[in-house]
Amino acid sequence: MWHARWYRHNDPSIASQISSGLIILTILLLPINAYCSYLFFKSTTPTALSEWHHDSQNRCYLPGKNSTDQKAAKKFKKILAYIQENDAFAETLIKTAKATGVAFCLENRADGTRGYYDYQYNIIAVRESLDFYQQVAIVLHELRHVMHVTNGYRLSLKFSMIEMVRMTYAIEADVQAFSMLFAWRLKNKGLPHLWSTLLLFKHYSDIAKTFEREMLQTNDELRATKQAFIQWYSSSWRKTNYHKGCCMGYLDMLDESNLIESYEYLPLDFFDRLCILPDGRNYACHTTDVIKKVP
Ligand SMILES: [Zn+2]
Repeated sequence: MWHARWYRHNDPSIASQISSGLIILTILLLPINAYCSYLFFKSTTPTALSEWHHDSQNRCYLPGKNSTDQKAAKKFKKILAYIQENDAFAETLIKTAKATGVAFCLENRADGTRGYYDYQYNIIAVRESLDFYQQVAIVLHELRHVMHVTNGYRLSLKFSMIEMVRMTYAIEADVQAFSMLFAWRLKNKGLPHLWSTLLLFKHYSDIAKTFEREMLQTNDELRATKQAFIQWYSSSWRKTNYHKGCCMGYLDMLDESNLIESYEYLPLDFFDRLCILPDGRNYACHTTDVIKKVP
C-alpha cells in the first residue's frame, strides 16, 4: 500500500530521474500523472474523508449533501454545471458518480498531481491551484474512470501483470478519447474553452490534434474517437509512465495478498464494452490492433 500511495503523490518517472529543481516545473507541466492510481486501492473498509484531509469538511463536496456556501460546493457546482452543458453525455456520468457516492475534493498538498480518482476514499480530487478549465478536464476524465470501475474494469490479481498493463493502457486511451469527443461537442455548442485546454495539454495534445483532423475530414464522431484512442498508444512517454506505475501497484497488491502471481490472459471479449459512449454507441476500440498488442 505504501508504494501505491507513493506513486500517487510522486510520479516515479520524474522523482527518480531528474533533479529536484526540475521536479516542480515538470510536475506542473504534467497533465495528470496519477490517472492510474485508482486501480490500486483496495476498498476493504469504508474510509472516512476526515482521514483523507483534516479540512475535508470544507474541501469535499458530496452532491446534494453540502451547504451551498461551502468552499468545495461552490467550486464543484460550477465545474459540474459546465460539464452538464453536454447534457447528452453528462447525465450518465454524473448519475453514476452520485450512485457510487463519490465525493469531489480540492487537493492543496504538495504532491504534484493534478487530479486523481482515489478508489479507497472514493473521491475525485482536483488540484486547487489549477485554472477552471483544467479542473473541468480533470473532473471529466475522472468521471469516465468512475464509470469504468463501476463496470468492472479494475485491477485484479486474477490476471497477469502484463495483462493489467494492457487493460490500463486501454482504459487511459478510452478516457482520453472520450474527453476529446466531449470537449468537441461543447465547442460546437459555443463553449470552446475545454477544447482549447485539451489542445494545450503537454504530452496529450497530439490526441486532440488527431481527433480534430479526423472530424474535419470525415465529421464522423465514432471514427474520430477511435483514431484518438489509437493515437494514445503512439507516445512512449505515456506508455512508459503507466507501465511503471501499474506494475508497482500490481506488485504491491501481490505482496499484500500473499498470492502467487497469475499468468492468466484477459478473456477475449474483455474489452467489447469498454468503449461504449453514454448514448449507447460503441466506437469499437476492441477491434483496434493496439488494444491487442502485448505492452
Ligand atoms: Zn486516467
